[in-house]
Amino acid sequence: MNTAYPHLLEPLDLGFTQLRNRVLMGSMHIGLEDKARDFDKLAAFFAARAKGGVALAVTGGFSPNREGWLYPFASKLSSKREVGPHRDVTSAVHEAGGKIALQILHAGRYSYHPLSVSASAVKSPINPFKPRAMSERGIRSTIADYARCAVLAREAGYDGVEIMGSEGYLINQFTAPRVNRRDDGWGGPIENRARFAVEIVKAVREAVGPDFIIIFRLSMLDLVEGGNTWDEVLFQAKAIEAAGATMINTGIGWHEARVPTIVTSVPRAAFGFVPEKLRPEVSIPVIAVNRINTPEIAEDLLARGACDMVSLARPLLADPEFVNKAARGGAQDINTCIACNQACLDHTFALKRASCLVNPYAAYETELVRKPAEVVKQVAVVGAGPAGMTAAVELAERGHQVTLFERGKAVGGQFRLAARIPGKEEFTETLRYYTRRLDTLGVTVRLGVEVDIEMLTDFDEVILASGVTGRVPAIPGIDHPSVLQYAEAIEQSERVGPRVAVIGAGGIGFDVSELLSSAESTALDPAAWYAEWGVNPAIDSAGGIAAKATPASPRQIWLLQRKKESLGKGLGKTSGWVHRSSLRDRGVHMIGGVHYERIDDEGLHIVVGDEPRTLAVDSVVVCAGQLSDRSLEDPLREGGIPFHVVGGAHEAAELDAKRAIRQATEIALKV
Ligand code: NAP
Ligand code: SF4
Repeated sequence: MNTAYPHLLEPLDLGFTQLRNRVLMGSMHIGLEDKARDFDKLAAFFAARAKGGVALAVTGGFSPNREGWLYPFASKLSSKREVGPHRDVTSAVHEAGGKIALQILHAGRYSYHPLSVSASAVKSPINPFKPRAMSERGIRSTIADYARCAVLAREAGYDGVEIMGSEGYLINQFTAPRVNRRDDGWGGPIENRARFAVEIVKAVREAVGPDFIIIFRLSMLDLVEGGNTWDEVLFQAKAIEAAGATMINTGIGWHEARVPTIVTSVPRAAFGFVPEKLRPEVSIPVIAVNRINTPEIAEDLLARGACDMVSLARPLLADPEFVNKAARGGAQDINTCIACNQACLDHTFALKRASCLVNPYAAYETELVRKPAEVVKQVAVVGAGPAGMTAAVELAERGHQVTLFERGKAVGGQFRLAARIPGKEEFTETLRYYTRRLDTLGVTVRLGVEVDIEMLTDFDEVILASGVTGRVPAIPGIDHPSVLQYAEAIEQSERVGPRVAVIGAGGIGFDVSELLSSAESTALDPAAWYAEWGVNPAIDSAGGIAAKATPASPRQIWLLQRKKESLGKGLGKTSGWVHRSSLRDRGVHMIGGVHYERIDDEGLHIVVGDEPRTLAVDSVVVCAGQLSDRSLEDPLREGGIPFHVVGGAHEAAELDAKRAIRQATEIALKV
């Protein structure tokens, strides 16, 4: 056994069954669960993670009945004829040496359809549909539906089920007074509010027998007004253990909570203190969750006794071999999840198949297949941003001889800039990963080289990944000494004065404003982060919330755009609100519908509506999008050298690393 992670790699004895290590793959809705015809892809997805060493995976949520659907015709397991396709998944995982549990998830008032039900008829702020309060009969039949779903899961070959009792879904709607306004035996004191959860666990245990894993995902920190107190959480945990659960998984925050729980600016293992507080109070294994993305973090939680298992979800999208790599001492080779949500959760919420920004193979295991090159070629890759690095690595993986040219002093391109933004420190992990892969695969990396066509004539093919240059808007005075391009402002932020206007409010305008309004990164300081977002680490308030205490901005900032809509609309679905909220809390002025008049010694002159205004700023930072740099395209065409254009060089509009990495992968697989 690798001695670096002895706790992580230690088997866990559950009595009737053993888990080979302490890694649980947490539930994620991939978007392949809803239709039987996608189950072969789902099987390949889980099999890859089981091959990679995961001890126990949990599927995305399956509803025990129609009312509990996340949306119409979403994943459900309530009848015998739905069992068949699941057998493909369970047998693929078992063949790969892993175990798998089915998550039973009744969405309650989070169901996006008019049949939704809940403890009480209290609408959620994030769903237009108002639920119907469940009747006594409805409650009883729903409990029976959970039990039936678990029996069907067992028939399908699952090793267990996870009962989703957190994140603000149905069971959580019963346990917390936020939604539960009942005055019958299912509402009022915690003994009554917890009854639904307890009865479900009892019914499931009775139906499946003693030798079947039951994980209960317990909401330990609701992070909303009207959440449970710690005493109420403890009551539930003990009652759920007594009812027959095998393990307790941690749930942090309702979906409607205004505290970020998993985005990249959340410190690593920020919520480890929660299962740590529960563990001494119960005698069944407790699982820790959220922002555990390296074997070191996982090992630390286990070694300090915070939990018995760690739940990793997105990190296993990013690298299915996470556990095996850790076990063989190759943690440096792990493709680390940077918690960006761009290709996983943002896809899920847009009802698209989830994948991974840093690993486009995720959930495409049967469609995106890397095969050795039939003819080994000499390939030049021009530009070492995300697209160029990916192309170089993928080509080298296939056996091609690759030279990667970069005009800068280091690889990384726009990603290197992103990594300097407070709260985006994780992005350095991707740079570390690519640097390591380039080195291991023997790619020749030539830094500080301005490539011209003569340097490319001896190559069989060229990948043009020359990236982008910042757009210079035609505003009178744009060459004034107070004006900086975003790259300069990020790399030399000390040049930016105390009053600053940011032109352009796309992802980069927001990032630059984050950088300029932060004295330090709270992502690296959990105590400061709890204070910033109003998390109470002592958990002596209901829901674990406290008043927010945002650190003051060292600069006065105006973030501007020409569009009349509210700023930040185009940001990620699951992360945009965090950026908007963080800038608002720091007093950044966000103004839309701006016309830029001129820049001079007085500052930036704008017109908003009909009103002319002068922003008396010391600096103006331009974040007005990008233009493709494809200056080598014509010479390559004229020289008759086969080439492919990828990433920002291909198309600058709406460019992001997700598209760049995926496109570069797809092209590299065809060379
Ligand atoms: P962007 O999203 O295209 O935003 C450019 C901004 O500049 C817009 O606000 C646009 O708004 C403004 N603009 C465009 N042309 C202009 C002109 N001629 N004069 C003045 N303003 C102009 O580009 P970006 O912010 O540079 O980001 C590039 C890409 O990187 C994005 O597409 C994004 O996907 C990615 N990125 C993502 C994140 C993230 O957190 N996910 C972070 C950073 C970057 P108006 O036209 O309304 O003024
Ligand atoms: Fe992690 Fe981003 Fe990949 Fe999602 S898309 S798994 S958050 S790296």
